[in-house]
Amino acid sequence: MSRLGELTWKQRLGVDSCVRCGRCETVCPAYMSGSPLNPKQIIAGLSDQLRLEVDRPLAIDGGDVVVGDGLLVTPDALWGCTTCMACVQACPAFIEIVDDIVDMRRYLTLSEGAPPGTSAATFKNMERAGNPWGYSPDDRFAWGADLDLPFAERGQHYEVLYWVGCSAAYDKRNQRIARSVVRLLREAGVRFAVMREESCTCESARRLGEEYLYQTAAQANVENLGAYTFDRVVAHCPHCFNTIRNEYPQFGGSYPVVHHSQLIDELVTSGRLHPAGGAGPRVAFHDSCYLGRYNGEFEAPRATLRAAGVDVVELPRSRAEGLCCGGGGGKMWFEAKVDKDVNVIRMEEALAARPDVVGVACPFCLTMLDSAAKSLGVDDVKVMDVSEVLVQAIDGPVSPAV
Ligand code: SF4
Ligand code: SF4
Repeated sequence: MSRLGELTWKQRLGVDSCVRCGRCETVCPAYMSGSPLNPKQIIAGLSDQLRLEVDRPLAIDGGDVVVGDGLLVTPDALWGCTTCMACVQACPAFIEIVDDIVDMRRYLTLSEGAPPGTSAATFKNMERAGNPWGYSPDDRFAWGADLDLPFAERGQHYEVLYWVGCSAAYDKRNQRIARSVVRLLREAGVRFAVMREESCTCESARRLGEEYLYQTAAQANVENLGAYTFDRVVAHCPHCFNTIRNEYPQFGGSYPVVHHSQLIDELVTSGRLHPAGGAGPRVAFHDSCYLGRYNGEFEAPRATLRAAGVDVVELPRSRAEGLCCGGGGGKMWFEAKVDKDVNVIRMEEALAARPDVVGVACPFCLTMLDSAAKSLGVDDVKVMDVSEVLVQAIDGPVSPAV
């Protein structure tokens, strides 16, 4: 969308309902960081313009372009969004602010050919190599070379198809999450497999407006998944989880999908996993936006931590009010100038709770908060995925040493 005449009736009704309360602005991590994004300004600006042009036949002439440098909505503002959904949740008028922002991003990326920073190269990597870095697809499962990974075979039935995702497949630190998940699946005796043809969901590309790339990848992934027989898909990445669970049905791929924390909680409750428990360290838990606000799952990662016997510390902004790590909406793939990075704001909040460990349930959150810890010079507080904490609890008492 680049002109008022291109707004759907639902979008018009949305922007016209803005009461200028500023709740979206107050909770917006991008606005807090000093980025040019102010969701209230975008929605109220569109609303004002609609009213100014009330007598213009927008449905016929489309209206003037309102997205672009020096125009009503600037690219820098649009690229500031992490798609965290905090604004949508806070908005008393239920305005779909994130959908509007992504809609305008599509115009910039697809019509103007102007995606942000180096993200064009990231799109190329996703398209050619099936991962954002451009590593060889042949190395996708190199992290498990010593684990004798079971690859899915046609005609076989599996309890679980484990979707690893690019981050844990290629990022050295996050590979430990995948190894932990495999360890837990084996420990619980789950009949599982990974899929040799797994490739990037291109979720970040969709959030950055590259809808064509996303849809091409979705069709290929759904086709590949359809070749195998499994009871459900397990993903430890909330972005993959949200994509496969909520978006793949539109491409013909409907399967039960669970986040690894949900499966771990279930395996502990049913007695298939036996963590040692006992007094553990203080773990401040940071909610992932795509697991929490997008999918309403706040309890399973906490239950996983409690099962590990750790002392779960709630941050002031948590659960539905949790603050983003700054890595969603494609923000992992390019830098933008701000006063203070969102991940640093969030890590400082977590550190104020004086934890031994910051617990996460998302590889993007892990990368973002780990990087914030480094830039703050903190090396005595580790960031760990909930699966890593549980593996420690199975092997003995949990310690913050990773
Ligand atoms: S989704 Fe998050 S980052 Fe984007 S405008 Fe809303 S609150 Fe701000
Ligand atoms: S929260 Fe909703 S109603 Fe309030 S200023 Fe933001 S968009 Fe407008």
